[in-house]
Amino acid sequence: MRIALIAHDKKKNEMIDFAVKYRDVLSEHELFATGTTGTLVMGETGLNIKRMKSGPLGGDQQIGSMLADGKLDLVIFLRDPLTAQPHEPDISALLRLCDVYCIPLATNAATGAIIMDALKSGVFR
Ligand code: PGA
Repeated sequence: MRIALIAHDKKKNEMIDFAVKYRDVLSEHELFATGTTGTLVMGETGLNIKRMKSGPLGGDQQIGSMLADGKLDLVIFLRDPLTAQPHEPDISALLRLCDVYCIPLATNAATGAIIMDALKSGVFR
């Protein structure tokens, strides 16, 4: 499965904790991430992650392009709902494309955990 990991700045520690907790599951899949998220998660987990540009510099659009091309199967996007983001239009477009192409999307760690458990148990593949 091809999985994208994205976390806003105030959610980056949460994403690192998430990736550490589910490292065994994530390691069995092909991973992609926006630039800073990918660098941090790779540094903390040793997972192999293909990094796009940083989100505000076009990384979210690159992930969106992959969605449109059918190159992603799952998105874990830990959004910060309490802080305005300069690249909000890119974020909205990415979220929208998940719905256009019916790609599972977790926007918080609790939903991400359910998806990881489903992947681990083979319920979702
Ligand atoms: P980043 O991008 O991982 O490069 O910080 C995430 C985002 O803000 O969309």
